[in-house]
Amino acid sequence: MYSPLIEESPGFLNLKKQVIDSGLCSLCGSCGLLCDKIEYRDFPSLREGTSCNITNGAKTCGTLGCCYDNCPMTSFSKKELESAFFGKEASDRDLGMYRKILSARSTDKEILNSAQNGGTITSLLINTLSGNSSDSKYKGAIVTRRGPAWIPTPFFASKPKELLLTTGSIYSRLPLSNQIRSLLREKHYLIFVGTGCQTTGVRRYQYNFLSKIPPESAHIFLIGVFCYENFPYPQFKAAIQEKSKTSINEIKKMDINKGKLVINTKDGTFLQYPIKEFNSIVPEACKLCTNFTAELADISVGSVGAKETWNTLIIRSDEGVEVVERAEDSGIIETTTKVSVETIRNIISRKRFLSEKIIEKRRAKDLYVPNFN
Ligand SMILES: Cc1cc2nc3c(=O)[nH]c(=O)nc-3n(C[C@H](O)[C@H](O)[C@H](O)COP(=O)(O)OP(=O)(O)OC[C@H]3O[C@@H](n4cnc5c(N)ncnc54)[C@H](O)[C@@H]3O)c2cc1C
Ligand code: SF4
Ligand code: SF4
Ligand code: SF4
Repeated sequence: MYSPLIEESPGFLNLKKQVIDSGLCSLCGSCGLLCDKIEYRDFPSLREGTSCNITNGAKTCGTLGCCYDNCPMTSFSKKELESAFFGKEASDRDLGMYRKILSARSTDKEILNSAQNGGTITSLLINTLSGNSSDSKYKGAIVTRRGPAWIPTPFFASKPKELLLTTGSIYSRLPLSNQIRSLLREKHYLIFVGTGCQTTGVRRYQYNFLSKIPPESAHIFLIGVFCYENFPYPQFKAAIQEKSKTSINEIKKMDINKGKLVINTKDGTFLQYPIKEFNSIVPEACKLCTNFTAELADISVGSVGAKETWNTLIIRSDEGVEVVERAEDSGIIETTTKVSVETIRNIISRKRFLSEKIIEKRRAKDLYVPNFN
């Protein structure tokens, strides 16, 4: 059991003003990591009937925690977090801190059949949760599962087999980090899979709050997915249905690859659309974000840089190295060192260029601009 120590924080009123109301919220759920007063619909808000008892500069925040400090869109020092979690600051400005970069894929046919790319994430999760792995101190994984009509839905998998239900990417955002709040208290050792903003929010929470309690009572291993952009579910669903003249329920798989959204329907039809046709529904948060490779996760996984049906794996922490080596040893994944790092760097520079334009626009309108130096 733990009780986080609360320090001076700008609190929810400032989070709302600087991030939520100014279009910078990515709906990651990290503000709800400690506080059950926050609920999520299209955006985070205070639950009806509750009031937030913190104002700018206040020292206390009920007994619950500080939403502002976990948000990946409020200023923080990335270098400080790198030093705390990886032992040193990253020297590579594009890729962040890393120990190894590999190409990987699952060797398990069942995983490969339903995975988004090489099934590396699902294989690492299954191996880490399985009784055969010395990592089995982990009590489960917080992942995203496809709900009815492709609604992205948080899911807690406590048994390896359950992870076969959670393969594949859903290109819609969801509050996920807040799932940790109740689960960590009960389970102590968790794996969390999320986008760059979600994993950053969790890292901030670990740094700000969990570092003050014994590690054996609260440990979270982070797997990040590469993420260029992510869409609000209602708008994405509407845009897809309008373009394809097909109900979203008829879609079997979606993939964003080489600038195209490729849709595979249940009756075997392939449809594809330039992803730029969806530009108008890309949130400002994603346009400002340059965290393509989830730089603060223990391991980051994507498809860019790898061959078709393989993954690129950026291994950042010592524990990340152990988790991957154990999966290699057990034979559930195979790896090579063939990765086109240049392709990844090109995408990051494109994101940086876009981000600078958004920052300029926000400054001109006197809107909040976070600083991650
Ligand atoms: C919104 C989004 C955008 C992405 N953009 C890119 C990109 O531009 N370039 C690139 O190389 N890769 C991108 N990826 C990553 C890629 O789609 C695969 O997730 C990654 O290559 C791992 O493949 P896999 O076969 O190992 O995954 P699998 O073994 O199939 O596992 C997929 C995992 O993704 C998680 N997941 C699914 N949907 C979401 C979601 N909405 N939010 C958080 N987690 C989710 C699930 O929990 C599951 O554990 C993106 C992923 C997401 C979710
Ligand atoms: S009580 Fe604290 S953590 Fe909760 S919303 Fe208010 S400021 Fe945020
Ligand atoms: S923590 Fe996430 S959900 Fe909360 S305001 Fe920040 S970006 Fe939005
Ligand atoms: S682009 Fe960045 S802000 Fe948008 S969902 Fe991905 S990691 Fe989050």
